[in-house]
Amino acid sequence: MKQHQKQCPECGGGLNQQAITHTQPWGEKLYRFENVPAFVCTQCGHALFEAAVSQEMDNIIRGHRRPPKYEKVPVFSLEPQTKS
Ligand SMILES: [Zn+2]
Repeated sequence: MKQHQKQCPECGGGLNQQAITHTQPWGEKLYRFENVPAFVCTQCGHALFEAAVSQEMDNIIRGHRRPPKYEKVPVFSLEPQTKS
């Protein structure tokens, strides 16, 4: 049995257990997971996942599982505009 970490490794703040939306970059893609159980730092917002949760997300990505819904995420690159 592993003990939960009670403190944020980044700032030492307290952790709140809550479900979050997590965006996981993978190669050139982004995978979004909703309702992910996480421990979120009350001070800096750093999110920690239990090993089993990380593993599950890993399995989903590697297994190319078909998601219940699909959102395309637009990516913009800001470039200086040339004035006319
Ligand atoms: Zn923190």
